[in-house]
Amino acid sequence: MINTLKIRKNQGEQAIPDVTRAEIRPPFRGLPAVDGSKCGRCDACREVCPVGAISARPLAIDLGKCVFCGDCARECPEKSITFSTFHKIASTSRDYLVVDGAKNAEEYLSGAIEARQEIKRLFGASFKLRQVSAAGCNGCEWELNACGNPNFDMGRFGIEFVASPRHADGILITGPISENMAPALEDAYMCTPDPKVVILAGSCAISGGVFQGSAALNREFLDKHHIDLYIPGCPVHPLTVVNGLLKFMGR
Ligand code: SF4
Ligand code: SF4
Repeated sequence: MINTLKIRKNQGEQAIPDVTRAEIRPPFRGLPAVDGSKCGRCDACREVCPVGAISARPLAIDLGKCVFCGDCARECPEKSITFSTFHKIASTSRDYLVVDGAKNAEEYLSGAIEARQEIKRLFGASFKLRQVSAAGCNGCEWELNACGNPNFDMGRFGIEFVASPRHADGILITGPISENMAPALEDAYMCTPDPKVVILAGSCAISGGVFQGSAALNREFLDKHHIDLYIPGCPVHPLTVVNGLLKFMGR
């Protein structure tokens, strides 16, 4: 016991004291700044984008599709697109993920997550999620694992992943939802008791990501069920996940 306490003292405090204020350094890419007034309409960004995330008029980036490769910013001769390290990009609205020049970090954050009293009342102190990996590359799953490590430590806020959907308040989906995973995802949803929420994490889950249009996908689940929260990224960053969940919980 004494030895354990000594080790603990030597290691010091490992958890990020205030995840809401934590910042991420470059080369991390978060919220893009899009300046359509500089755009020379050469289409270089759209040609290089691997996922069709850029629309031309007005110039905008869909964070639900973007894989944050940075190629558009590198290719743009007018520097119309730059990436900030602002990571609080989760939103309760799919449309809100389309970012044009009008949204800077503060403006984006102020309207990103709609506060819902019933969510705060039901899940504000304890939020248990069943994670369903629906055929992604495992990148998002690694980052979701990190959310529970001693650094990000989302368990201190009452947020945990649970083994069974029967013990969960909702399901969190990663991956583009393959035909083979579609029935298992539906089963997990049906086994989660009401009231429940559905969260999509990562560009694959939100839009299909790099797998968009593949015949191996079956995304009918998303047409049938309401989506409560979208967490962009490829993969999602733990601070994006934890801050998004906290705000969603009304914390
Ligand atoms: S950073 Fe996003 S929008 Fe830009 S090229 Fe890559 S995927 Fe497309
Ligand atoms: S969103 Fe990116 S990191 Fe996450 S599962 Fe898909 S390809 Fe992998």
